[in-house]
Amino acid sequence: MVVRLVAMVFGLASAAAAAAQSLPLTIDERIAACEAAEDAEPERAIALAQSVVDELPPPTSTQMSGALGCRGWAHAMLGRREEARRDAYALVAQLPSLGPSAERVRLTRRAGGILHRGSDRVGAIELYARAVADAEAQGLEAERIPLLVNLGVLHSEFEEHERARVNYEQALALMERLNDHRYEAPVQFNMGLTLNGQKKFAEAIPHLQRTLELVRSSGMGGPMQEVAVSLALANAQQQTGDTKAAAELVARVRAMDVPLSDANMRLQLAQIEADQLTDAGSPERALKLLDAIDSSELGEIQHFTWLRHRVSLLQKLGRFEQAISSLNEAIEMRETYLRHQNHERLAALEAHLRDREQRLEMERLESVATTQGLQLSASLRQKWIIAAGAGLLLLMGGAVVVVQRRMNRRLEQVSRTDPLTGLANRRDMAERLSRQVASGATSAAVFLFDIDLFKHINDEHGHGVGDEVLIAIATRLRDCLPVDSSVARWGGEEFLVLQNAADKDAAQALIERVRQAMQAPIDTSIGALHSSLSAGFCNLPLPGASGPRAWHYSLQLADSALYLAKRAQRGIWVGYWISSAPSDWPPDRLGREPNLARALGVLVPISEKPLTPPLAMAS
Ligand code: GH3
Ligand code: MG
Ligand code: MG
Repeated sequence: MVVRLVAMVFGLASAAAAAAQSLPLTIDERIAACEAAEDAEPERAIALAQSVVDELPPPTSTQMSGALGCRGWAHAMLGRREEARRDAYALVAQLPSLGPSAERVRLTRRAGGILHRGSDRVGAIELYARAVADAEAQGLEAERIPLLVNLGVLHSEFEEHERARVNYEQALALMERLNDHRYEAPVQFNMGLTLNGQKKFAEAIPHLQRTLELVRSSGMGGPMQEVAVSLALANAQQQTGDTKAAAELVARVRAMDVPLSDANMRLQLAQIEADQLTDAGSPERALKLLDAIDSSELGEIQHFTWLRHRVSLLQKLGRFEQAISSLNEAIEMRETYLRHQNHERLAALEAHLRDREQRLEMERLESVATTQGLQLSASLRQKWIIAAGAGLLLLMGGAVVVVQRRMNRRLEQVSRTDPLTGLANRRDMAERLSRQVASGATSAAVFLFDIDLFKHINDEHGHGVGDEVLIAIATRLRDCLPVDSSVARWGGEEFLVLQNAADKDAAQALIERVRQAMQAPIDTSIGALHSSLSAGFCNLPLPGASGPRAWHYSLQLADSALYLAKRAQRGIWVGYWISSAPSDWPPDRLGREPNLARALGVLVPISEKPLTPPLAMAS
């Protein structure tokens, strides 16, 4: 409902028929026609945008951005997420050439909108946040209002009510200051719904009352909208004990006689009336009212509230068996819902990261190709003069081979490098670990370092700042390690260090180096940030482990040490040093046996107190 109202008031769902003009249209006319058709006739919009993209000579950056934005939106309308995402990022790539302008802010928001529609909410949040920052830096205050609303809606969708509330608050304060109330109704409504969601009913009431006022006086959204707002308000009133006001509103809704095509609205109405019946001492009738709802039509969250409501009524009526079975159903629903949500978030994040990695690799390869292209022509010119044309063909053949070889080497290097931090990537490190084990050397150590509460950095300051922190920590790690060790980005914000020729003491000495390197705060574009690492390590290979996959056991053990460190308090390390082969090899249990070792040391002091780690290791 939140999104729908926003779309309605912002006029995003403009279904204006595209002008039935015949070609040739100018580029700008085609972009305008595309934008007019993008909602109702997305296929036509795509064709129009395509003709602009293919234009020769190429259109200006602004025109290209307009066409990409329109094509991306149309793809998103058709549910073609990949295409939509590609266009959104192609649009983002155009933005730097636009220079500071309201247009740049609008197009950043546009790209965010495409990702939002294409279900890449993580990417959308990042772009909206970027657009807000851009608008702020340029002093374009009015532009920030719809962006803050968009951000709020996204956070609401993630059930991050608190963040959503902050966004709406900022939007309302800006409206007040600029005396620009165009978006007030959706913001007030979303704010009210968010507070209802947080069960802060008393705080929700004034926002919903104001929305109702706005909706009634403008007729915006028609009677359906009035019903939606009335129900949200009646719900808040009912919950704060103002049953009289709630009853009046519900009676008014009934009198409006709007057919409630929306099952969720029917549920809201039934719930308020059921509460009223229960208060009046008729829980039987209340239950009947709820049972009249066809639960198969409800969305996940509504279904869940419906079940919960039934449980409390059944309890009141002393029908415990039924109450328990409804409760079980509700718990199952909630779990499925949470799993589904997490899955969606993860998928979005993964897609987002994959995209970014691919884009960076493409850029690298392009720049390599360009430099090598330049070198080739320079060397060709020189050689042409020397050979005075006689051996030109031969030379050219040779140069091409050289370039190709270099290009292959570069490709190979790129495929082993993490594009963000420049460290070795997982693939490269896995090969090194295999080689280490295959060499037969028995004395090495593997360390896993994981940044603590890194999600908070992303959430608080955006993925851009998160990336800066990742790069800074990667650099510190690389710079502080002894020469006989190597480091890779093993996962998102996890680093793996391989130390050759290590023993227990050397491993601790390495940890101490990292501890020192992590003391200073990290400089980022938004100021200094404190960040800490947790670590787990063990020897490689474990005694008795052999074969090409022997390093997996060490990794499993290091990982479980890291897990212990995280669970104990974060910012600390846990190490296992196994000196003799366990009898039950392969030691599956090792990885999960917390009592095996609890060598807690301090990697990064959380307090200023000097903490001297007690060095007890399992052996
Ligand atoms: P914990 O202390 O338990 O490790 O907490 P955490 O927040 O660090 O939790 P977790 O390790 O599960 O979170 C890792 C987060 O790292 C999730 C993802 O958003 C983020 N991340 C992964 N790769 C990247 C990246 O390339 N850039 C940015 N900015 N964030 C990333
Ligand atoms: Mg982490
Ligand atoms: Mg992690």
